Amino acid sequence: MDLSHLDKKYFIDAHIYNCPFCKRNNVSYALIDTFSFHWGENKTCYGYIVRCDSNGCEKTSMHLSFQELRVYSRHSGHSNRFMDGLDIDAALFFSQPTSYFVLDNRIPEKVRELIYEAENSRKSNYLVGASACLRKAIYEMLEHEKSIVKNPKTGYADYQASIKSLKEKFTNVASELFDALGHTQEMASDNVHEGSWEAWDSPKLRFIIELTKATLHEMYVVPEERKERLGLLGQMKSAFSNSKNQTENIEEKEDVK
Ligand SMILES: [Zn+2]
Repeated sequence: MDLSHLDKKYFIDAHIYNCPFCKRNNVSYALIDTFSFHWGENKTCYGYIVRCDSNGCEKTSMHLSFQELRVYSRHSGHSNRFMDGLDIDAALFFSQPTSYFVLDNRIPEKVRELIYEAENSRKSNYLVGASACLRKAIYEMLEHEKSIVKNPKTGYADYQASIKSLKEKFTNVASELFDALGHTQEMASDNVHEGSWEAWDSPKLRFIIELTKATLHEMYVVPEERKERLGLLGQMKSAFSNSKNQTENIEEKEDVK
């Protein structure tokens, strides 16, 4: 299964990005404001306010970095755009909204909040917090779907059995997603219940966060969008058959003549 879409970027380059609000891809944006402040004694944080140029969107997002990312020239100082050839996403440690793949509000709110928290913690390099939030988000999702299967011996939730029961419930979701979640060994560990959690490293954490988001999207957003599309198709179909009946009536009348 192709999971490359999980690596979707926020900023493509100094002019083009994927808007988290209107969800249009490859649209132009403007860097409309910047600020900086002392994060600590010897550390400066740079803030960037970016506005979507899409017609009717024009929403603004905020991005933080420990680097000055704008073009600098000796004559005119800092320009109002990011440097060319820079991996902007990699240079940012915090964005609000968090990423292109903003979680749809059809996903249960508690789960969404925990995913945001996991994502922000990961970006700020708080890996223990991020790992804990992500585990909590997955358990929250299992609980929301009443899919927690308890191990009769320990009385604790059996992670793999719970994910399996979720997989059986959501048959429309690609089973690879649940399998990948189920095989995240650290999740299944008994330590999960003890609070003595080990933090995952950042790339692994990022992958599991994106995997969880993709699964949530398939569970809660795709089926609703499909329903909407089918509803629309039904309306078009009935409009079409009405107009067809009218044409047939006209043809019949013409035959009579
Ligand atoms: Zn937009």
